[in-house]
Amino acid sequence: MLRFDFYSPEQEITLPLYDQKSVRVFIKRDDLIHPYISGNKWRKLKHPLQQAQHDKKTKLVTFGGAWSNHLLATACAGATFGFQTHAFVRGEAVSNTVLTLCNMFGMTLQFVDRTSYKNKQALFDQHFGYDEAAFFIDEGGYGASGVLGCSEMVAELTGNYDHIFCASGTGTTAAGILRGIQLQKLDSKLHGVPVLKSGEFIREEIARLGVSGSAEMALHTAYHFGGYAKTKPELIEFVKQFTRDTGILIEPTYTGKLFYALHDLLRNDQIDAGSRLLVVHTGGLTGLLGMLDKFSSTAEQ
Ligand SMILES: *Cc1c(COP(=O)(O)O)cnc(C)c1O
Repeated sequence: MLRFDFYSPEQEITLPLYDQKSVRVFIKRDDLIHPYISGNKWRKLKHPLQQAQHDKKTKLVTFGGAWSNHLLATACAGATFGFQTHAFVRGEAVSNTVLTLCNMFGMTLQFVDRTSYKNKQALFDQHFGYDEAAFFIDEGGYGASGVLGCSEMVAELTGNYDHIFCASGTGTTAAGILRGIQLQKLDSKLHGVPVLKSGEFIREEIARLGVSGSAEMALHTAYHFGGYAKTKPELIEFVKQFTRDTGILIEPTYTGKLFYALHDLLRNDQIDAGSRLLVVHTGGLTGLLGMLDKFSSTAEQ
């Protein structure tokens, strides 16, 4: 059986804003699961990997953009558990630190133009349709087995929380947490912070993934900062300040927008005093590697 022991505590952080608003804030440290098989990417990969092993598949085939946390997680997990890995990478051939790391973990990279990339099943069928060892894993670990893995995070919780916050890309993680809340019969309210524009689509995605109840969750759609992987100086400044104040590293693509949203909601009294909050740190810190220029230090006196 594929085994992987990890540590992801619920850690309370204290900041003057939380005191002022009389809330207690805990972080589910999924970022500590593994430096490369990070956060929700491990949770989403766990069941597909078990399935692949069960079906005696030896090659994982997956999809992602050139800075994808999912590609890196799949590459490292493949090396860890004895699978070969192959990635279809969206767009022009490029080289960057994340892809170099993927390559170091043995992943083969095949760049495909954006139009072909859209039909992932067709790509798989065309290149691996006759390869009995090949196992399809969707972009970002999207899918029902990803939902199952993310739901297990809720079963691990030791505290009780009025509100649980997570960042949302495809909605798989939010769907899993919502499912977990239902399975554990908790009263916690789920709050999603979409990192893409027009984030209301997350509700339909959750329903499409087979999880009910997305109508009742809160979606805070005003914190995308221009869209996926887009930033603004105030977001960069926030990420720096938060990291300085807490000792917990976050990044602008997912967790930066998540905490920014939380702080903004607190400042605007959108969260009741006395609440206990859990914020899920979904990891993905290697995303910083593509943005270091935005954080470049200038000499300070
Ligand atoms: C991929 C990723 C997400 C998005 O998860 P979804 O399940 O696609 O919504 C959130 N946070 C981090 C750090 C990620 O790498």
